[in-house]
Amino acid sequence: MKKIGKKIYGLCENLFYINRSLTGNGVRKTLEYLKKELPNLTIHEVPSGTKCFDWEIPKEWNIKDAYIKNEAGKKIIDFNESNIHVVGYSSPIHKTLDLDELDKHLYTLPELPEAIPYITSYYKETWGFCMSHKQRQGLTKGKYKVHIDSSLEDGSLTYAELFIKGESKKEIFISTYICHPSLANDNLSGPALVTYLAKHIQSINKPRYSYRIIFIPETIGAIAYLDKNMDALKKNVIAGFVVTCVGDNNHYSYLASRQENSLADNVALHVLKYQAPHFKKYSYLDRGSDERQYCAPNVDLPVCSVMRTKYGEFDEYHTSLDNLDFINSEGFNGSFNVYEKMITALEQNFTYNVNVICEPQLGKRGLYPTISTRKTAGMVKNLKNLLVYCDGKHNLLEVAEKINVPIWDLYDLVGQLVEHNLISIKE
Ligand code: ZN
Repeated sequence: MKKIGKKIYGLCENLFYINRSLTGNGVRKTLEYLKKELPNLTIHEVPSGTKCFDWEIPKEWNIKDAYIKNEAGKKIIDFNESNIHVVGYSSPIHKTLDLDELDKHLYTLPELPEAIPYITSYYKETWGFCMSHKQRQGLTKGKYKVHIDSSLEDGSLTYAELFIKGESKKEIFISTYICHPSLANDNLSGPALVTYLAKHIQSINKPRYSYRIIFIPETIGAIAYLDKNMDALKKNVIAGFVVTCVGDNNHYSYLASRQENSLADNVALHVLKYQAPHFKKYSYLDRGSDERQYCAPNVDLPVCSVMRTKYGEFDEYHTSLDNLDFINSEGFNGSFNVYEKMITALEQNFTYNVNVICEPQLGKRGLYPTISTRKTAGMVKNLKNLLVYCDGKHNLLEVAEKINVPIWDLYDLVGQLVEHNLISIKE
């Protein structure tokens, strides 16, 4: 298990410096890289100007270079050193100006003077630079040359989708976003973890459910995806998750779906209760990512989110401090383990009927241990408790909740009871 965190972290290292945004070649490059990991990934382009519900796909943004030079001709800001130095979606500019005028286009964080903030302006054309507050305070009066070699033109929005066919048409939906440049926890950790989760799901022998896994730019990508796929999603999705902020090794967080008690919520809460009992619980009122679209009225999908430290809740969020030092393989190990347990729980979450009247005689079937220890006593108790809720009314997740054991403690017992024909799956 330790290894998986290292692999996910390694993927982050390889993708960290690509300049991603809502649209553009950085997104394509990222998705092409992920396609090498997941060959069945399909990459889609939605043209600028396409209407998606109340929104429109914006122009495509690309950037080759950007800098600020001082009077001596020295680059004091260089896009090549950090791609968050430039306000995302900045229009091209090539101009010499005074410090006063330049200052109107500078963004800093006085409360975190060493950090460079991450700023975007997707829907209002402007340009700007981000730097540390410390550096801004050191700027002297004089002329500055600003240069942003970007383009904002009709193009397209790029996203990727992986569909894993299961025995059922019912689907588990996993969504992650790919629109942030060099920022680690929010958000590269999401697509990196989802890539390895997808590999894991692909390795399941005959999955019960189908899986729809998407890598989209946040907000507009989710809206564009829903515009094309909402009917299928509404028809088939039984549980969904927005995966983001899964790479730090601090506490776990859960953000409820708007429905609050959907299967997705229940499985997330159940796994976290045992895996990370001190997790922080957020309501749908604390939403901030693509659950805003998936859970919107008229869409109303059962989509919640399991994270480590939630976006907006860590000081490093949306700054240069959310970097490869803020995430680590231990953090990914834990997050992967939780998501893997959630997927397994969903796959195993059948409803069972008991096939005998009154208590079955366990002894004659070899299910009653001849030597009684604390461990076997616990097992027998679980077995008997499990049997009393195999009533065709409670699914295994509900049984586990009712009898206060993690669902994974029941898989083996269920197997034994099925083998002895004491219970069977309710069709
Ligand atoms: Zn973000």
